[in-house]
Amino acid sequence: MAREGLTAFQAVNQNFEEAASILDLDADMRSVLTTTYREISVQIPVRLDNGDLVVAQGYRVQHNGARGPYKGGIRYHPAADLEEVRALASLMTWKTALLDVPFGGAKGGIAVDPTSMSDGELQRMTRRYANGIAHVIGPYRDIPAPDMNTNAQTMAWFMDAYSSRAGYTPAIVTGKPLSLGGQPGREPATGRGVVYILEAYAAEHGIALPGLPVIVQGFGNVGSWAAREAVERGCLVVGVSDRFGGIYDERGLDVPALIEHATSGGKLLDFAGDHREVSNEELLVSPCEVLIPAALDEQIHQDNAAQVQASVVIEAANYPTTPGADKILHDRGITVVPDILANAGGVTGSYFEWTRNIQQMPWTETRFNEALRDYMVRAYDATSAFARAQRCTLRQAAFAIGIQRVATAVRMRGYV
Ligand code: NAD
Repeated sequence: MAREGLTAFQAVNQNFEEAASILDLDADMRSVLTTTYREISVQIPVRLDNGDLVVAQGYRVQHNGARGPYKGGIRYHPAADLEEVRALASLMTWKTALLDVPFGGAKGGIAVDPTSMSDGELQRMTRRYANGIAHVIGPYRDIPAPDMNTNAQTMAWFMDAYSSRAGYTPAIVTGKPLSLGGQPGREPATGRGVVYILEAYAAEHGIALPGLPVIVQGFGNVGSWAAREAVERGCLVVGVSDRFGGIYDERGLDVPALIEHATSGGKLLDFAGDHREVSNEELLVSPCEVLIPAALDEQIHQDNAAQVQASVVIEAANYPTTPGADKILHDRGITVVPDILANAGGVTGSYFEWTRNIQQMPWTETRFNEALRDYMVRAYDATSAFARAQRCTLRQAAFAIGIQRVATAVRMRGYV
């Protein structure tokens, strides 16, 4: 989508430019960092179970690799296109740099609706895609991971396809099943990281988590884990949604029961109880203190930002807030904790998984969670301190810290 006349990549670059101005970054560096290094568009013919052939389009975009191998998830979604993948790849560059993990930024996608595909069809498609991009990825070159509509099983197929060419290579992807070199704690890491950030924000602002009303849009990997972790700290999760719609109850929802319902394939709207049913549009503007968008891009935009009732938005999804909405929220005194900080638990956890695979040395889940919290809180503190010192937003601060690190590496390597 291109809301407010901006494609997703243009919107991310608008955020980039604001931060680059704070840093007084020169024009040559800006030209390099607002464009991508490599873009692949690959044809993916998939034979369906009924004998029909579908030709899907797949993408892999490598934005910047100055600080390490390219890193970023793979999304299966009908709206995936080159411009969206570029945007998400560049966000990964700023995210990995902000968290100070030794990776660059990349993203992949296949423009397809996977919700109607069988496991066999998904497996054939994933293998084709892996083969189509195999020549530009590698454990020291580019390391994919799960994103929307992809999961540990997808990563297992991907790893098998790559390993059949290159030999056993668990470090080619992260977010793998535990039986194939996956890391305990990685699957919850993005949602858990979101709540580590909520804790850091609450501690800084003297807000108590018990009883704090929270809304979570999207109830997949990230949203459901964020909701569960929030409830474990005493928050009241008052609203949740999936792609079919949402439910709201100001007394708080039974999140563990909702997770059980969702993981057995149920729609949230079919969950029994005396809560209110709401559309996704209503959910975003329903009463709460903390709003966690954990679904799609561009969910908070110029036309609904004035109605948001939260006092803080924690961006678990990538690019859920358009630049127009960002301004409206800022003018209304609503804090936005940006995606490249809030959802960085995923790539940070992936870094630990990759390290485990490279070293062939296991990490316990306890060690993993402690390290994750440490990285997240350090990045939060740095971002908050930068924003205070420069009197800028958390998004501008987060981008500026990331950009500074990438620009230094680009210069040191003699690329510009
Ligand atoms: P997922 O596929 O596991 O879950 C997506 C959820 O969003 C599902 O509940 C789906 O029903 C819901 N959804 C889809 N369309 C919707 C709509 N129009 N309105 C409301 N809900 C809708 O995906 P995920 O891995 O949880 O990713 C969610 C977001 O988090 C994406 O923006 C992704 O880029 C971002 N993210 C994911 C990770 C990760 O580790 N998985 C890491 C960083 C960021």
